[in-house]
Amino acid sequence: MNVLQAAVLECARAMNACGLNRGTAGNVSVRAEGGFIVTPTGMDYLRAVPADMVFMDMQSEAKGKRKPSSEWRFHRDIYAARPEAGAIVHTHSPFATSLACLRMEIPAFHYMIARFGGDSVRCADYATFGTQALSDAMLKALQGRSACLMAQHGMTVFGRELEQALAHAVELEALCEQYWRALQLGQPPLLPAEEMAVILEKFRTYGQQ
Ligand SMILES: [Zn+2]
Repeated sequence: MNVLQAAVLECARAMNACGLNRGTAGNVSVRAEGGFIVTPTGMDYLRAVPADMVFMDMQSEAKGKRKPSSEWRFHRDIYAARPEAGAIVHTHSPFATSLACLRMEIPAFHYMIARFGGDSVRCADYATFGTQALSDAMLKALQGRSACLMAQHGMTVFGRELEQALAHAVELEALCEQYWRALQLGQPPLLPAEEMAVILEKFRTYGQQ
């Protein structure tokens, strides 16, 4: 358990160090036997220790000395609905959040959008943070995808493990910045569905499996 708690804390610190997140807004979790381990609510990750990371079972029972992130509900629901999810990174990163404030989805303006499982990254409808309504909206936006934006809120990405979830969150933020910049110059043409199907197939077999 302690190894996983240390890994969650390390990922949360890395998320802030690389500029993806500021302060205590974002949160991180990893699947663990019978539930998941999630960052605590309102704690400075530089001051936190591994034991501050909270284990929560799938019935939402938290164990440990700290209260879990106020956004634990969507972490639980993603693990329950998506067996391929091993770790989740949620941030209020600047470019993803800017686009999410306009409730924009990210279309296939660049082939790397296929990284997240389809020809777009959707934006989940707005709902109050921490609510079941937000969690439901996110699961809908995540259908067939491993990432979504969240209206007037931020973004969430899941991966096989923490390292991949963080790396993909960094990639999504980079894509959001590129899309934002491209929009300053005009309306970028989109890759056709046939080309995105080719890219999706390549990604299924690309790199270290
Ligand atoms: Zn949030």
